[in-house]
Amino acid sequence: MRIAFLGLGIMGRPMASRLVAAGHEVSVWNRSARQHVDGATTAVSPADAAKDADVVWTCVADTAAVERVVFAEDGAEQSLREGAIIVDSSTISPSATVRFAQRVNTRGVHWVDAPVTGSKIGAENGQLIFIVGGAPEPVEYLDPLFKATGKQVIHIGDTGKGQAAKLGMNLMIALIYEGFAEAFVLVRKLGVDPPKMIELIQASMVRSGVTDYKAPFVLRHDYSPNFPLRLMHKDIHLMLEMAKENRVKLPALETVDEIYELSSEEGWDDLDYAATLALLEKWAGLGGQPK
Ligand code: NAP
Repeated sequence: MRIAFLGLGIMGRPMASRLVAAGHEVSVWNRSARQHVDGATTAVSPADAAKDADVVWTCVADTAAVERVVFAEDGAEQSLREGAIIVDSSTISPSATVRFAQRVNTRGVHWVDAPVTGSKIGAENGQLIFIVGGAPEPVEYLDPLFKATGKQVIHIGDTGKGQAAKLGMNLMIALIYEGFAEAFVLVRKLGVDPPKMIELIQASMVRSGVTDYKAPFVLRHDYSPNFPLRLMHKDIHLMLEMAKENRVKLPALETVDEIYELSSEEGWDDLDYAATLALLEKWAGLGGQPK
């Protein structure tokens, strides 16, 4: 297939590489410092990348970035042919997704929301899970592309439902990690050896995918970004916005949002969200200056 891939960040770059490796004709574009992906052509704009494409795949930071790459003057929409598909693997607003889809539908273009879970390691190893919203036909058409970049596709429902479910997933990740971080800092203050605590967690029922992924990084005090704090913070804001619009109360998440606000004020936006633990360490007098 001819694929335009827009956004070569932590997630987008390995995804685009895997599409090339699977034998697709890929044209890539990135906002800053036009980055190169081996085997792909480098486009000068989203519209240039999308020329003659069957599929335009976006993986950019947030709702405004998706709007920019699709609808700006040099956006992908300009050159899309009828029947083409836009698949969005960014995590963005479910309601904006519905609006964007309606807008491209008027030109005969399909929109599939396909945010992912699996983070940097999942993207590099082709182990992502796609959380999909959209009509059955384009979703089925995209299946070989999802298989080339991930291990599982869960078709949640119609347009926007992938994004809605993704927010639910990240809500749990933020709260599970906060629970882990608070327990970890408390027991450290009580004199428990950190590797022993991790051994206990991993042997017990509180083990989770979140502790599997993050514990080795925390033990090494390695907060290099796999999932940058600024992006989890963006997702927390989206969850709180959706909750407000839909009259849902999320008291634990509101508290966790404050931890992210304060971590952001520390200048840790570009570190991994796991660095929020360092704030608790700082308050507890246990160091807490992340590397
Ligand atoms: P990232 O490394 O920060 O990359 C973000 C990408 O978006 C870059 O290519 C950036 O371009 C581009 N971008 C930002 N603002 C833009 C704008 N206004 N116009 C055009 N392009 C813009 O982020 P990532 O980790 O790859 O995440 C991408 C998306 O996947 C996000 O929505 C994130 O929430 C979601 N996600 C991430 C993970 C993870 O673990 N990392 C997991 C699941 C989902 P520049 O290079 O020019 O800055």
